[in-house]
Amino acid sequence: MAYRYRCGECGFSTRWTTESEAEDRSTAHYADRHPQLVPGGSVEINRKNLETVGCLPMIGIALLLLLITASCQR
Ligand SMILES: [Zn+2]
Repeated sequence: MAYRYRCGECGFSTRWTTESEAEDRSTAHYADRHPQLVPGGSVEINRKNLETVGCLPMIGIALLLLLITASCQR
């Protein structure tokens, strides 16, 4: 899954990355831009992209099995 932190104080958001890196970037942003505030904001989780990638080999295997089944029946 990809994570992205969005700043609660301004329009800043990190790029899509790992959870720990997004958290590091968010903390660094607060230290740089809002040093007087406790780090906050919201986290966005993107699971769509990785699910699509994860499905592709399954579709490939399914098609291959269909092809083998079809050629065996002849
Ligand atoms: Zn900010």
